[in-house]
Amino acid sequence: MSQYTPMIQQYLRVKADYEDAFLFFRLGDFYEMFFQDALRASQILEITLTSRDGGSADRIPMCGVPYHSAKGYIERLIAAGHKVAICEQREDPKQAKGVIKREVVQVITPGTMMEGAGIQEKENHYLATFEHKDSEYAIAAADVTTGECKTAVFATFDAAVHELAAYGVKEVITDGSWNESEKKQIHGRLSAVISVEEQVETEAFHGLLANLTHELTRQASARLYHYLHRTQKRSLDHLQAAEPYEIRDYMNIDYFSKRNLELTETIRSKGKKGSLLWLLDETKTAMGGRLLKQWIDRPLLSEKDINRRLGIVETFITAFFEREELREQLKEVYDLERLAGRVAFGNVNARDLVQLKKSLGQIPQLTNLLKQINGTELNALANKLDPCTELFEELDRALIEEPPISVKEGGMIRDGFHAQLDEYRDATRNGKQWIAELEKEERIKTGIKSLKIGYNRIFGYYIEVTKANLGLLEEGRYERKQTLANCERFVTPELKEKETLILEANEKMIELEYELFSQLREHVKQFIPRLQNLARMVSEIDVLQCFAAVSEARRFARPAFSVDGNMRIKEGRHPVIEKVIDAQGFVPNDCRMESGRQVLLITGPNMSGKSTYMRQTALIAILAQIGCYVPADEAVLPIFDQIFTRIGAADDLVSGQSTFMVEMLEAKHAIVSATSRSLILFDEIGRGTSTYDGMALAQAMIEYIHTNIGAKTLFSTHYHELTVLEESLDHMQNVHVTAVEQDGKVVFLHKVKDGAADKSYGIHVAQLAGLPDSVLKRADELLQSFENKEEKAVPPVLVQEGQLSFFEEKPSAKQKSFKKEDPALIAKLLSYDIMEMTPMEAMNTLYALQKEAKK
Ligand code: ADP
Ligand code: MG
Repeated sequence: MSQYTPMIQQYLRVKADYEDAFLFFRLGDFYEMFFQDALRASQILEITLTSRDGGSADRIPMCGVPYHSAKGYIERLIAAGHKVAICEQREDPKQAKGVIKREVVQVITPGTMMEGAGIQEKENHYLATFEHKDSEYAIAAADVTTGECKTAVFATFDAAVHELAAYGVKEVITDGSWNESEKKQIHGRLSAVISVEEQVETEAFHGLLANLTHELTRQASARLYHYLHRTQKRSLDHLQAAEPYEIRDYMNIDYFSKRNLELTETIRSKGKKGSLLWLLDETKTAMGGRLLKQWIDRPLLSEKDINRRLGIVETFITAFFEREELREQLKEVYDLERLAGRVAFGNVNARDLVQLKKSLGQIPQLTNLLKQINGTELNALANKLDPCTELFEELDRALIEEPPISVKEGGMIRDGFHAQLDEYRDATRNGKQWIAELEKEERIKTGIKSLKIGYNRIFGYYIEVTKANLGLLEEGRYERKQTLANCERFVTPELKEKETLILEANEKMIELEYELFSQLREHVKQFIPRLQNLARMVSEIDVLQCFAAVSEARRFARPAFSVDGNMRIKEGRHPVIEKVIDAQGFVPNDCRMESGRQVLLITGPNMSGKSTYMRQTALIAILAQIGCYVPADEAVLPIFDQIFTRIGAADDLVSGQSTFMVEMLEAKHAIVSATSRSLILFDEIGRGTSTYDGMALAQAMIEYIHTNIGAKTLFSTHYHELTVLEESLDHMQNVHVTAVEQDGKVVFLHKVKDGAADKSYGIHVAQLAGLPDSVLKRADELLQSFENKEEKAVPPVLVQEGQLSFFEEKPSAKQKSFKKEDPALIAKLLSYDIMEMTPMEAMNTLYALQKEAKK
């Protein structure tokens, strides 16, 4: 240490506390980085690496970014998953004795970003803590930009990770005790940065923890608050008390299923476009946009709560004109939630506060408008809107309509707001007037028409005279200040005196304005809880009007909920596909699931619409339970507690698991967790393995779900052989998606009908795809020969004990002639140790057996 200069020593001391962050060390107009930080940052940011003498034998690597453009660089480091500690100079360099005092004022991390390109208007930006103790897991998730904080307990590691994934957390804070595999899982599945916060202090955050009784949620939340205070180093008045919730109060859709159903983003592009959220998002405020996403993530279970939302949507639908006006008004409402956050952070300017004022100014109108609409629930909501009138009036009195962005150059506060400020203003205004008059006088006195009075920062006010006119100046009165190429600048004693007065007044005016603005900002802080409350109400209204707008535009119907747990959807549609291909082209379908048909086995050619039919059913259920109308002519639905999906093409590349393994994991998850109130979608399960393997698994799963769970299940399959299960399973029903053959080509009708499909159209689809004729012809030949062989082949489906085999149902001509029972043959069959045979031996043995049987 002692080899280094005092400044580098100071750097190293600070850096020791922020090992995991890039330390931005303020040196004059730059943030400098040294040593390892400099080497890495220069690469990531593509900035020049230099070096500096720091007292040691070797020069110290160094790179830096200008203070005024640091924001962009910080954002880039954060986007790359790093953290940045900002270390500022804490005293005036002119007054410092020795090394200037410096200290870290904030640590910016992926989860604590307040603004910048990483923050989306209509998306929350969460970070979370993750605790575990014995067999319980707790998470607490907060959005620093809005101040909300939620916490819940889970029984398994997986369930907690799924929840974190649903939040889309950018950063996970742990106590440092996670093992490598757990860390890898968290990091891999969430692609979130992992941070450590060892300290948990419940005392300091007493108020914020007031709603929590469960010890683990208290711990999770306290750690979160502690981390935020430690890194942000300021009062975070906008942080709200942690709100506990129970996942069993909401419909549970695991992370895979959310992804499969493309609720908030599409599988392929990971973008919003093409998702359910995209279809629904007719919100007009950023807050509403965020709430909509939260609602989609958490459909309700309480019929009463669902009907409350549906009731308001219905009210809105009937009030077309008011709704249109409401939408216009909502556009004028600024992001109150994030604004409250920035007020607490201390980074709002006068323009933001004017926006706040304008937003508050909308509220009384909005309330009136809502009250004009007839609807008890809606009126109740309208009555709860708090326009924060005192705040509105104060802001209106204080701020001019279009203040500058900078808060340090004055020009924000209205005349008449503050007496002293008005005096300073008069002084500067009068002073300027006086100068203008002096200019006139001097021109007359000297006879120099081109004489002018100017101002610059270094020399202050001056009288400027061109070289040619210098002779006209009276001797002794003009003191030379500056000589330029073709003119000279002078001052006079009276100009000097006035200048002091004007500049002082100006300086004081700016100072006072800043002070008044700061007071105003502090004053706004007191309103943060009320503003947050208002934000909640406005966002709810926004989402409900959005439901109404979409429901009306897309001809959705209000769903009803069944008492008997049955489901009857009439002319249901897939809302997103319907929107993408124009509405005329989409073929609506009924879906009935009730006693005798709790499990629907869906067959039909590729591309006929099996997956679409399954997904639309799930989307209808979700839409209904978030309180929106549904894309159908009529829908009576049970309230589903959970939805499970296994839909192909969602390889978990990150964790490196094979498609088939993922398929089985998802299937397992459904099978162990589903109840009779759940909805299961299994789309072509078993495709990832060999035919018999896959078919066997598929059948076993259907049987298990059918008999042991009783969940409503849509099961599509390309194993045509499974359709016979209908006979043995009371509550299974075959349905198929129709297609017809026309001129040797397949035409999809997309219509779902009862009964099994009769033919596989695979080769026709290949034809549609434009495979060469010779390939298609050969495939046709092969198919025919396979089909002929199949009759003699082994049973296509595992036959379980006590269950009919295919042969007994539909004996073929040859099979009929078999001897009914041949004990000797059976004994022989049983004596083989199949596991010890080579495939060739097995074939030969089989051949011999068959020959014997035919005798
Ligand atoms: P499958 O799962 O049977 O292979 P998909 O459900 O993936 O078929 O549907 C294939 C395509 O057919 C979809 O992308 C869509 O464009 C179209 N489609 C599916 N269902 C319908 C429908 N009901 N009406 C109109 N087009 C449909
Ligand atoms: Mg499909």
